[in-house]
Amino acid sequence: MERGKIILVFCFLVLIFSSQVALAEEGPEFRFFQRLSLFEREASGHLGPMDLRGDQTWGNGVQLEAQLRIDEIADKIARVARFKTHEVQPGETLWDISRKYGIDVATLAGVNHDIANVHNIRVGDVIRVINIRGTIHKAKDGETVDCIAKEYGVCPEEIRMVNGDDLSRLNPGQEVVVPGAKPPDFAERGGTLDSFIWPVSGGRISSHFGPRWGGFHEGLDIAVPTGTPVRATKEGYVIFSGWNGGYGNVVDIDHGGGVVTRYAHNSRLLVRRGSFVYQGQVIAYSGNTGRSTGPHVHFEIRHNGRPVNPIRYLPPR
Ligand SMILES: [Zn+2]
Repeated sequence: MERGKIILVFCFLVLIFSSQVALAEEGPEFRFFQRLSLFEREASGHLGPMDLRGDQTWGNGVQLEAQLRIDEIADKIARVARFKTHEVQPGETLWDISRKYGIDVATLAGVNHDIANVHNIRVGDVIRVINIRGTIHKAKDGETVDCIAKEYGVCPEEIRMVNGDDLSRLNPGQEVVVPGAKPPDFAERGGTLDSFIWPVSGGRISSHFGPRWGGFHEGLDIAVPTGTPVRATKEGYVIFSGWNGGYGNVVDIDHGGGVVTRYAHNSRLLVRRGSFVYQGQVIAYSGNTGRSTGPHVHFEIRHNGRPVNPIRYLPPR
């Protein structure tokens, strides 16, 4: 008898518990908060927009209507620009911060006008971080949202949506978030030397950029076994692919904005002059051709014809 009672109570508890769970999962409020937290996660770059599409199977018409309204509100909230601040830690670059928050370096530059050069941030600097891609425009006297939209080539409605305030009258100096836009001075602030990846995975840096043997080493040497895939560090057009004296078999890629990358001493070339290559595309197999003292990739980044130190622009490995 005693055992029967315990089983009865147990079943009753299971019934109550499961109905509570079902209510919690199907209630519109639950979905509302669930969506908000998903948007938060999207803002931090861990989820794409496709992950946010919930199923819309609601048996009850009233509930469906409520759900749609909640979706609409949630969508609006997600599209309103929100800010956080981040204090630069020792050894941290703007690229590290961009990865941490899932937002690109151009956006970080766009919302932090006091960063004069994206490669020079200091420990203790307070950086503004935003949940959407874009830039901040400081309104000039007499400027309207329509003017700003035209200047950046974006839709004025989008600007109104993300700012969430009344923008019918802008005060001079007022900050307006322009979604999807890049700061116009991004290039001058070091922005063209942006978003490279490493030309090879692994390998040891056998020689750095800088003075070497009474001369100047204009690239970065990465020692890798012959036959290692060499990848385009950024998208662009191949402007040279062939033999070039001491460089051996070399590929040069033009990325626009005065930026060219060079990959030297290859054993085999896979691209031709004039072809477009994607970031990460295998363009050659590494080797030991030309003036080379062992199998390695000599990688250069040139800005307006001048070689720059690649290590400054490559992500940390
Ligand atoms: Zn070299």
